Amino acid sequence: MIQSPKIIKVIEKMSFQTFKIEDLGEFPERLDRLLQRQREEIDNITNSRERSYEAILKPIQDMDEELSLFFTPLSHLNSVSNSAKTQKAYEESIPLLSKFSSEMSQNSALFAKIEKITTDDSEAQKVIEDEIRSFILSGVNLPKEKKLLMEEISLHLSELSNQFSQNLLDATNEYELIIEDSVDVEGIPSIDLLNATTQRDDKEVYRFTLQIPSYMAYMTYGTNRAYREELYRAYSTRAPQNAKVIDEILRLKDEKSKLLGFDNYAEYALESRDATNQSEVISFLEQLALLSLPQAKRELEELRVFAKELDGIESIESYDIGYYSERLKKEKFDFDDTVTKPYFEQERVLAGLLDIVAELFAVRFEKLELNLWHDSVKSYNIYDIDERGDEKISGRIYFDLEAREEKRGGAWMNDWESHFIDSQGDIHLASAFVVCNFSPSSSDNPSLLRHDDVVTLFHEMGHAIHHLFSKCKERSVSGINGVAWDVVEFPSQFLENFAYEKAILKRFAYHYETSDPMSDLLLDKIKESKNFQAAMGMLRQIEFALFDFKLHQSLYQGDEVQELLDTIRADISPLIPPKYNKFQHGFAHIFGGGYAAGYYSYKWAEVLSADAFFSCIKDDGGFDEEKARGYKKYILSKGGSKNMSQLYQEWLGRKADLKSLIKLYEIES
Ligand SMILES: [Zn+2]
Repeated sequence: MIQSPKIIKVIEKMSFQTFKIEDLGEFPERLDRLLQRQREEIDNITNSRERSYEAILKPIQDMDEELSLFFTPLSHLNSVSNSAKTQKAYEESIPLLSKFSSEMSQNSALFAKIEKITTDDSEAQKVIEDEIRSFILSGVNLPKEKKLLMEEISLHLSELSNQFSQNLLDATNEYELIIEDSVDVEGIPSIDLLNATTQRDDKEVYRFTLQIPSYMAYMTYGTNRAYREELYRAYSTRAPQNAKVIDEILRLKDEKSKLLGFDNYAEYALESRDATNQSEVISFLEQLALLSLPQAKRELEELRVFAKELDGIESIESYDIGYYSERLKKEKFDFDDTVTKPYFEQERVLAGLLDIVAELFAVRFEKLELNLWHDSVKSYNIYDIDERGDEKISGRIYFDLEAREEKRGGAWMNDWESHFIDSQGDIHLASAFVVCNFSPSSSDNPSLLRHDDVVTLFHEMGHAIHHLFSKCKERSVSGINGVAWDVVEFPSQFLENFAYEKAILKRFAYHYETSDPMSDLLLDKIKESKNFQAAMGMLRQIEFALFDFKLHQSLYQGDEVQELLDTIRADISPLIPPKYNKFQHGFAHIFGGGYAAGYYSYKWAEVLSADAFFSCIKDDGGFDEEKARGYKKYILSKGGSKNMSQLYQEWLGRKADLKSLIKLYEIES
């Protein structure tokens, strides 16, 4: 038989990594050896006379992939199959990795070499630009004493951020409210009440704390207004000593950005984001606020009237909102998870999701029988289907969906292999893990999902296909690699939107015992209850985002911080909180986490996701296949190879319309 030369030419690595770790005990040692070898290879590249992209950045990306293939199974296993052994291996590995990455970010010889590389290829150009930017932002260009100062600032900032969180945690744990009269806990859900019940002086009492589940239980269901106010006051005045920590954090962030040549921290932060400049972010948030404010006022008015009729409340306060909203919601929709759960059987939901993704994006999932870290894990190969109906393997996905004792809580997507062409010309295919914590199945009962769980699964799948559908040839910008931080949630929120649509839910919402489809009434309620008080919710998020962003546009100290917050509230908040409220002392996203000058990202990505969603779905719930295929081709397959706004422009020939988000929430201005 004569072989066609065409077939020989394709050098594609059809194989995927096998999931296994040989010896956890030796893992850190083997990692250390791998890093040592990579150091030597990078030194060789740096000291060579090579000047081309192919000889410098190609092998460096191969090394990145090698490191990721080696390390991801451990970090994954540590999260989904945690044991003393995985913990030990993980904890010993982390310092090795951070030392390595900090060495790389300060490697000025390598930086000098990368800075000189030129290329005609746009993907490679983006890799070069990203590399240069990240070197510069880590201070590689600074004179020695300023470099030392930068290091000092970074160290100090991470201490302050810990201190902020610790103060908050201590204050949260110090407080308790003891309620003795059972009349005051009527209406609290039994599970929360059980958690609150305790003994004091041989008497049964109810103890509420500032831990979120306990605090929320009373604020949402607690009938005694005086107790609600007491709890609210305690919560919103926690950790007053954080005022000083905030001043110090803001001062150091300002100093750091100025050291690097920026006017302020917001400008520094935007350097690596999709949003281009400060006024764009501010006007984006202000426009959304303007469009939402009229409805938010109506929503609050409705609540006011409701609270007055129900309990004769003359002036509704911040500590009434949660309680009366819940009462009003119950009156309007009256359904909960126990009603919907029987219709969301895990296997059926997953099958439905895969069908939808297959139909939207012309792919096929093929179930595999692999020996993995747990019996309940499902894996699939993914095939692209072209216009002629021919199939081509394109990626692999793993689903680990059920809660287990040795598994970290929450839900996430973790990328493993990336799609790219290596320095030898071999094509690598992508793979990813989707991890959730749904209630486990047993021999008697299947795993039943809450509607929130269904949304979570769609969300994580959105992240996964962003990584898996990549067709990029440069690893650093392929899939979720190199995607700007403020648009990372766009593809996940995009897919999440489908999980509220009647026509979509109808595909898999069947009762697990009777096989009856979910009623139209219930399907409608799911959608409507999602948008209950949507405008008030929107404005709350915008208040946080505007406060965060403006706070980093100039140096605010002392009372100026509160004054800024007051000004924003005066403009956009339908209800002004009591004077004693010191929200900022507990704003952990910003001062204890990595969201400084970045809280706007939630809404930024959401606008893209809403606009893209309405482009891909028709009014009757059917798909606009051409647009969906375009979304795959222009957005998902391009990863971080261009800025998202540019990819979006290339897909639809226009910018995302901010009003799409207003439409998604059914807000009427
Ligand atoms: Zn996400």
